[in-house]
Amino acid sequence: MRKKVGLIGYPVSHSMSPQMQNGAFEKAGLSYVYDKYEVHPDQLAEAVRDMSEKGFAGWNVTIPHKQAIMPYLDEIAEDALKIGAVNTVVNENGKLTGYNTDGAGFLKGLMRHVSFPMEEAKVLIIGAGGASRAISYAMSKEGPKTIAITNRTMEKAQDIFSECLRDQDQVISLHEAEERLTEFNIVINTTSIGMKEDRLPLRVNHLKAGTVVSDIIYNPFKTALLKESEKRGAIIDNGVAMLVFQGALSFEKWTGVAPDASLMEKIVIEELGGSYVNR
Ligand code: NAP
Repeated sequence: MRKKVGLIGYPVSHSMSPQMQNGAFEKAGLSYVYDKYEVHPDQLAEAVRDMSEKGFAGWNVTIPHKQAIMPYLDEIAEDALKIGAVNTVVNENGKLTGYNTDGAGFLKGLMRHVSFPMEEAKVLIIGAGGASRAISYAMSKEGPKTIAITNRTMEKAQDIFSECLRDQDQVISLHEAEERLTEFNIVINTTSIGMKEDRLPLRVNHLKAGTVVSDIIYNPFKTALLKESEKRGAIIDNGVAMLVFQGALSFEKWTGVAPDASLMEKIVIEELGGSYVNR
């Protein structure tokens, strides 16, 4: 019988993870099936118990359960504890362990575009929500020279600085980030600006050519930030890579095998009807 894995969230109908994961299982010749399960917040405890008892090998967790699931797990990995959210659960004979692969997944994708040593990297992170927290934590582990974080709500950026960043890093205002943009060689947008409206998270007049600009939004495929940055000679990347690599790391945790991430990326791009960015 095929081993079960899947995604729980509310809602989950939009997710491309089943196509991406099932394609990778098939390619690897592994007998797993990945499905999505809409779980109302009131039914989270019951769903966790049920999936554990039914012998799921593990599952992904998305909004709004990433924090709420933590009390129901037996163990939580250090990165997920620091980030304060779990996106991957592994079930080993009823023992449930929570991980967070969002930040590490994002970094894997980003690093394909970085051709200078990370000790020389000056990173600007825009936004201070859940995704920013995961990316900030993973980025600080990568050892760049400095990380500056900015957000509309400064207190939230301050919280991430205190909990996930290092002494040499800093919190700056959006205005200061705009004025100092030329200093950074990696710029990451983690806000949802650009998803629904064709708008920039900040002005990019001072962006220098060759800067790696990443937007974790993948729909639209090229946000206003990516379009404007590309015009200024930046190396751009969208959120497909984060989606793919967080999923690839989950796959590895469930199976012990690394999937074909290029195939996963191709499946997602086809689902989105997009085309490769900067490749
Ligand atoms: P979140 O926790 O709700 O954080 C949202 C962030 O966007 C906050 O920094 C918020 O600023 C900012 N923001 C929202 N609306 C704004 C506005 N009108 N003006 C200025 N700032 C605004 O969301 P999240 O989970 O971190 O996700 C953020 C984005 O990343 C979403 O678009 C999501 O789809 C995408 N994402 C992609 C992946 C992937 O795999 N590619 C994974 C996770 C998330 P305030 O703090 O001031 O409210």
